[in-house]
Amino acid sequence: MTLPGVKLVIFGKQGAGKGTQCVRLSEHYGAPHISTGDMLRAAVRSGSELGLKAKAIMERGELLGDDLIMAMVAERLSEPDAKEHGFILDGFPRTEQQAEALASFLAPGDLDLAVDIELPTEEVLQRIAGRRVCVDCGANYSVSSPPKVDWTCDSCGGKVVQREDDTEEAVGRRLELYERQTAPLIDWYSKRGQFAEADGVGTPDVVLQRIIQAVDERRQHSGTA
Ligand code: AMP
Repeated sequence: MTLPGVKLVIFGKQGAGKGTQCVRLSEHYGAPHISTGDMLRAAVRSGSELGLKAKAIMERGELLGDDLIMAMVAERLSEPDAKEHGFILDGFPRTEQQAEALASFLAPGDLDLAVDIELPTEEVLQRIAGRRVCVDCGANYSVSSPPKVDWTCDSCGGKVVQREDDTEEAVGRRLELYERQTAPLIDWYSKRGQFAEADGVGTPDVVLQRIIQAVDERRQHSGTA
């Protein structure tokens, strides 16, 4: 029997289906989906001190400082839902320093698995051009799979738009950053025996099953299922 809750990090180039899979994994395992990008966009909208700092950096498609991000994630992981059910981390860690910080924060417990959803770059660029997001809850849509009514979110009624940082220039910079800074994390987690790759080509259901299989195999292996 699979225990409720899970501790996962999900990687993938932007546009690889990370957001969609995280929402589904969250439903499947009953663990909160924690997206640092969504948290930062909410902070920008609220006009908080963090939001003011984050806005310009995000518009340039650059990364925020490790300390700032870790403080934000640590606060979120200390909330009751994450303490009780674990988490699906999306967009974090993005640097080795963040991975180190997360591992020390979680010690003595640790992750179940870090999963990379792998998709060829050309396909990623095509998907990003068509993707749309709910400004309130972060639900993902696309031009080929829009909300039922007039760009209004099916789950919360929020406005569904194209992300401001989905311009070609910012996307190019993010993909480059991903290769340069985040791909080494795959080595980092591989060396710790905490990494699996999931083929991201296929329908969301097919990809979800691949990820669940990798996670459940790992949990059986480590005796937590
Ligand atoms: P995302 O929605 O994950 O693509 O994140 C949008 C933007 O938020 C990124 O381009 C960064 O500027 C910032 N951001 C999100 N997560 C992180 C992180 N873990 N470390 C640094 N910056 C981040």
